[in-house]
Amino acid sequence: MTEIPQERRVVTAIPGPKSLELQARRTATVAAGVGSTMPVFAERAGGGVLEDVDGNRLIDFGSGIAVTTVGSSAEAVVRRASAQLADFTHTCFMVTPYEEYVAVCEELAALTPGDHAKKSALFNSGAEAVENAVKIARSHTGRQAVVVFDHAYHGRTNLTMALTAKNMPYKNGFGPFAPEVYRVPMAYPYRWPTGAENCGPEASAQAIDQISKQVGAQNVAAIIVEPVLGEGGFIEPAKGFLPALARFARENGIVFVADEIQSGFCRTGQWFACEDEGIVPDLITTAKGIAGGLPLAAVTGRAEIMDSAHPSGLGGTYGGNPVACAAALGAIETMKELDLPAKARRIEEVMKDRLSAMREKYDVIGDVRGRGAMIAIELVKDRATKEPATETAAALAKACHQEGLLVLTCGTYGNVLRFLPPLVIGEDLLGEGLDIIEQSLAAL
Ligand SMILES: *Cc1c(COP(=O)(O)O)cnc(C)c1O
Repeated sequence: MTEIPQERRVVTAIPGPKSLELQARRTATVAAGVGSTMPVFAERAGGGVLEDVDGNRLIDFGSGIAVTTVGSSAEAVVRRASAQLADFTHTCFMVTPYEEYVAVCEELAALTPGDHAKKSALFNSGAEAVENAVKIARSHTGRQAVVVFDHAYHGRTNLTMALTAKNMPYKNGFGPFAPEVYRVPMAYPYRWPTGAENCGPEASAQAIDQISKQVGAQNVAAIIVEPVLGEGGFIEPAKGFLPALARFARENGIVFVADEIQSGFCRTGQWFACEDEGIVPDLITTAKGIAGGLPLAAVTGRAEIMDSAHPSGLGGTYGGNPVACAAALGAIETMKELDLPAKARRIEEVMKDRLSAMREKYDVIGDVRGRGAMIAIELVKDRATKEPATETAAALAKACHQEGLLVLTCGTYGNVLRFLPPLVIGEDLLGEGLDIIEQSLAAL
């Protein structure tokens, strides 16, 4: 593991001179469509700290978008991936298989909700996992329609762009999109017109009514939902919403898919966020946190559904790469050993406590929400109208960056600041990060 001191240190302007130099090279050669939240170039990272090429040490409240849950250089990940790298880098599982792939599928079967027989297939990215979940659901049901939700994010490939709700920046100008995708309301408690207490039952009734009347339940292959929404704004669907949809899916032979790519692997204080309401999805997609930073993704689900795709119908050259699988085994080992679900719950306690106190003081914070180490504040211009304070969110993020705190924004209206610290972050760093947020709020 990289022995990086677990302390914030700001020694240059941010970005510093070396980062600016690299930024100039980058601009000349990297496509403009690939953006970056913070234009500082990374040198090394571990625990709750990311050090840049100018020697600045940032407190990491982003985890590379919920990926480095175990830290960016976790001992077991580095050890197991390095050993695998020396043994062999690739054979292609579709050519000659290897044990690590099977071992990851065994872990997925054991860790994901439900005690039914489960199987998995491994891929490289979250979007690829979601695409394959759709392939499997269509193959199993013989149906075509896919139902997704307002504010959903499922990726950037053609099919997953169609599944994603937000136009800018994900879809604009990139169409035409895949057909047979239908969008229905999400139970967004903070913005539900008749109030948060009515949100669960009303939103599920509306969603089910639209599916039944506009699509026809008998035409629906899959309902895909994030149990806690990621890019869409860290929305926790109101209680009752997910169980109602899961029940509707079950009654109508629809494959219920939980997209846990962001919320999974201990992030929300449980191994998977759908456990919170006892949901047992038919299929679950995972990626991000699964392999401590190496690219790996999976579809896991009921054996009879997973087996409905014909032999060689699923796969890909790199899917379940042995080094990525070894890293995943190291990440999962770390999650168990350090009891990272408990760490996530502790982070929630500390963050919600501080952020709720800030909400009392600063009217711009309309809502504090999220679970575990997936916490957000939604900023508004006016608490009564809830008009999104998009510019304030951008300014607040920027102010935090200047002080050496890496934070991300998200949300359909771009007015949500989200916090995704590595679960191994020290409590002193966590507190210092929250201090910076408070100081930046006060200065605005
Ligand atoms: C990030 C994300 C994806 C896409 O994953 P990639 O690895 O970027 O393709 C899909 N679904 C959710 C919920 C995500 O957060």
